[in-house]
Parts: sequence; C-alpha cells; structure tokens
Amino acid sequence: MESKRLKKIPEQVVIPLKQHRGTVCKPLVKKGDQVLIGQKIGESVSYNSSDVHSSICGEVVAIEDAPNPDGNKVLSVIIKTTDSQETVAFVPKKNPSSEDLLAIMQDAGIVEHYGAPTHTVIRPEGKKIDLVLINATASEWIGGKYATPKEYATQMLDALKLLIKASGAAKGAVVLRKDDKESIEAFEGVQVNGKALKVAPLLGTRRLGHYFKDQGSNIIVASQERIYGKNILSFFTHNVTGRKVPVGCNPTDVGVAVCGVKSAKALYDAVHEGKPYYETVITLEGDVDCPKFMLVRIGTPFKDIIEECNFNGEIGKIIANGVITGVAQYTDEVPVTKGTTRITLLTKEQVLRDESLACIHCARCVDACPVSLLPTRLAVMANQGRFDECRQMHIHFCIECGRCSFACPSKIHILQLIRYAKSAIDNAYEDAVQKESSNLKVGCCGGE
Ligand code: SF4
Ligand code: SF4
Repeated sequence: MESKRLKKIPEQVVIPLKQHRGTVCKPLVKKGDQVLIGQKIGESVSYNSSDVHSSICGEVVAIEDAPNPDGNKVLSVIIKTTDSQETVAFVPKKNPSSEDLLAIMQDAGIVEHYGAPTHTVIRPEGKKIDLVLINATASEWIGGKYATPKEYATQMLDALKLLIKASGAAKGAVVLRKDDKESIEAFEGVQVNGKALKVAPLLGTRRLGHYFKDQGSNIIVASQERIYGKNILSFFTHNVTGRKVPVGCNPTDVGVAVCGVKSAKALYDAVHEGKPYYETVITLEGDVDCPKFMLVRIGTPFKDIIEECNFNGEIGKIIANGVITGVAQYTDEVPVTKGTTRITLLTKEQVLRDESLACIHCARCVDACPVSLLPTRLAVMANQGRFDECRQMHIHFCIECGRCSFACPSKIHILQLIRYAKSAIDNAYEDAVQKESSNLKVGCCGGE
C-alpha cells in the first residue's frame, strides 16, 4: 500500500486550541513568539481536554478564531513557517505506571478521531473499564507510519498493552476488518504472552468472550465486517462484545474503552519516542494523482494538500471525513485536525444536484439499515416535525451510516432528515435520553 509524507512544508499552519470534545485549551504562546516542532502551544485546563502542539517551526502570527473542518470557527494559533526544522527534545518514557500513561496521553495531546480525549476514554471519571478495544476495522495497514505490516501489528499490540495498563482493565482486543487480508496476515503468528497469535473471525453469535476463553489469553485479535457511520461506537461494542449500550450512554458505561488505530499509534510514539501528537495520516479520495494515504502535519490547510495531489478537473466540492457522514467545506483554508480522517474532492459534474422525488415505498432503505430502523418512516416524521414519534421509533439508535440515503432511488435526504430530528429532540428535551433509555429497556447487560 502506497503512502507518503506531504512534501511541501506549509507556509502557515492553523492549529485549533480545541481539537477534542471538552474544554478549549489555554494558549501558552502569544503573537511574535518563536515555536519549535512538537512544542506545546495549548494546555488543558480540565481533565476533559487534551494539549495541543506546534507541527512546524515558526513564528506565532495570530491567535484568533479561524475556520474549522467541523463548520465552526475555533480559537486557533496561526504559525508562519521559518526555514528551520528544529524540534523540541523528545524524551522516551521508560516503564511508565498507569498514572504516568494517563498523564502522557493528555500531555501528548492524544485524542480519538471522534473527539474524545483518549485518557477520558481509558479512565472515564466515575466508571470502571474492564475491556479495551482497538477498532482497526476502518483502517488498513498504513505505510506512512509503519515500515512493514508486521511492524504495524507489533506496535498495535504493544499499544494495546499500554492502554490495558492505563485503564486497569483485565483484557483487550484488536478488531480488524474481515477483508483486510494484509493486516490479518501481519497479526497471525505474532507472539503474545508466549503464544503465537491466531486471528479469530467473529462468526455467528460468537463474541470476544468466547475467544478469550478459547485462546486462554487476555489479549486477542479478532476480525469482523466493516462497520461505518458517525455514531458507531455503541453498535460496534454490541457487535463484538454482546454488551448493549443504552441510548444516550457510551461504551464506557458498560465497561468498554474503544480506541482507534491513530490514537493507539500516537500513544506508542509518545511512550517509545517521547513524540507528541502533531502529525496524522489522512485518506485522500477523488481523481487525484498521488497516494491514497498521506502523512500530514496537523494544522496544514486543505489547500496545500490539494495543491500537491494534482486533482484532475475543476473542484466542485471538498468534503471532510467522507461523503456520507462528513461535512462539505466552504473554504479550502480549513486545517487538518486530529479529527480529520479523510478529504474527498469531487468535480462539479460529480456533485449530485438531483431533486428528491416522492417515496415509492420500495423499502430499500429498510433493508439497508444495519440497526433495523425504519428510515422511510423516520424521514417522513422528521420532515413533518413529529419528533415524539421519532423518539418512539428509537431514532437515537441511528448510527448515521447513510446507507438508507445511498439506497434510496427517490434521492430522499433521509440521513439529513434524521440528523435534523435528532438534534431537534436533543435541543427540545434535555432529559430525552434518560426518559428514552428507561422506556427502551436496553440496560447494560454485561457479558461478552
Ligand atoms: S437510519 Fe439510515 S443512517 Fe441511520 S443507521 Fe439506519 S441506514 Fe444508517
Ligand atoms: S428507499 Fe426511498 S423510496 Fe424506498 S422506501 Fe425508502 S425512502 Fe421510500
């Protein structure tokens, strides 16, 4: 698999002081300051926050609100590049304790791609974690950050051990995608706890618990179908562990910490190299003349990446984080952040401008829904503002995968209508989630 580091060093980077859910970081620099690569420029002011670092060597030219790929403006440190490529001294950490590991995660600015600071997932306040998962179903072995697939496998397993130690959990698993043959081969045979590892396919009703017992190990690697969508964590947790996550809760409420490949790798680098999280691998989609995966500095404006990747045609739309669940950008000045996973470029001809037609009741959206909702009914009710009925039909179970919209021959904007209803419900009923959770009777069931 081909990948490369973005050659061009951006003339200027825009580093948001909030690249996570939680409180915005306090700036540690001011206009006119010189900063080095890896220097901390924003500090957490609460547990629910994660530090930010400079990805270039340069001069701070402004600290101001700047466009962000999520569509909002976010307080950001804008740094103009100088010729130097000097980094701060990276100091590896030897034999860190569990408390040290949590501090390292926050200090190195490690954040899950969905926004949660990793230390809050691993050690959530007031909750106990007993199982750590690395969800590698959306990632392939990514050459930009690893020399070989085997290196990827060994580093992921090492990172999993660190995450288990930090969380105090008894067990952990890496979950691969069933069709990601290269990664499966890479993990097969790696020595864990003195045994050669065997990747377990999650078949039928067998969940991770079965394989923990079967393999007699507290660390296993499993494979399953790819699950995609914006809110997949609860669905993913249920699929691989059998534990149901109540509406409005997250996997940590049932004792499961779900981390991604990027944050696991960032922890590995922070511990073994002392390197903070200031660069990330993104996927490029569209008719471009460059590798699919690129290693870029956090804060790099999209326009610098687009310039280097030689897009064929006239750009009609730029989308961050996927065509189905992502956000279309109004400017190419937005920066890559810790939450950026992919950039999609569409030509003017590729941008769909079809009008929605009437529903023909074909039920393709129903067949497509992985969580057994009735998207067609939800769309109608959302469109008519019948939000109570949307709640009764469990709209909050929607993982926002967009399969219903994709399947719909009438081009009805089902996902957008569902999102609209979900956000209207959240705004209208602050206590909606608790009420719904008790009605649904899907409490934490435990068991794997
Ligand atoms: S309703 Fe649509 S977007 Fe939501 S989970 Fe079902 S198919 Fe995916
Ligand atoms: S796929 Fe579209 S047309 Fe078919 S039932 Fe669903 S909403 Fe209606």
